[in-house]
Amino acid sequence: MIRLKDIVKIYNKGKSNAYEALHGISLEIRDGEMTAIIGTSGAGKSTLLHILACIDGYDSGEYIIDGGEVGKISERQMAQVRNEKIGMVMQDFALVEGFTALDNVMIPLDFASRKHRRNRKERRKKALEMLELMGMAEYAQKQTNNLSGGQKQRVAIARAIVNDPAIILADEPTGALDSATTKEIMKVFRNLNKQGRTIIIVTHDPAVAEECGRVIRIEDGRIV
Ligand code: ADP
Repeated sequence: MIRLKDIVKIYNKGKSNAYEALHGISLEIRDGEMTAIIGTSGAGKSTLLHILACIDGYDSGEYIIDGGEVGKISERQMAQVRNEKIGMVMQDFALVEGFTALDNVMIPLDFASRKHRRNRKERRKKALEMLELMGMAEYAQKQTNNLSGGQKQRVAIARAIVNDPAIILADEPTGALDSATTKEIMKVFRNLNKQGRTIIIVTHDPAVAEECGRVIRIEDGRIV
């Protein structure tokens, strides 16, 4: 599903404050794996996650996702890879305030390339199915500001999977939740994984890492 080979990331390249944050990361993640990426603050987890998510580029090496090489494509194509192949879940949920749960889940469908876009009725139906899957159907018409943290994260996960992405990338998805809600949300991720979805979770919570089949530790920009 994912292959990184000797990925190097340099911030401020060519300037006096240039900083090499990743020193040659090689990594394979198979279809259907549930992987945690752990490491102390400053180790390079976010840098790696942003590269995996096609939010940020890299300076050398190779990144292949779902058979396609990411490094060689334009910003615009990268945005398309991001929308079609990757579902992102963030610590702060990143929901659009003033939108209902349903409208939030519909966003990736609204942004699908014209070729893949369904009509509005079908988009609503698909988004509602995802909310149902997350146990959130009854909240579909609620503004997301009025939901609890755990409910917000369920909506965010529904949005992350609505395009049937090849992988789900989560950045500290339980960082803003209490331990009981963390357990619930990890159950959601485990169920999605059981259904065959590939999941990568960046975390510094050992309890979250323990729930994953595989743990990758990063220190000083290297996998240890
Ligand atoms: P983590 O997510 O593990 O806390 P990061 O990937 O955020 O670590 O950071 C890795 C290293 O790269 C840190 O030393 C950080 O200071 C540096 N870094 C991160 N982002 C930038 C940036 N935009 N410019 C310069 N240095 C950065």
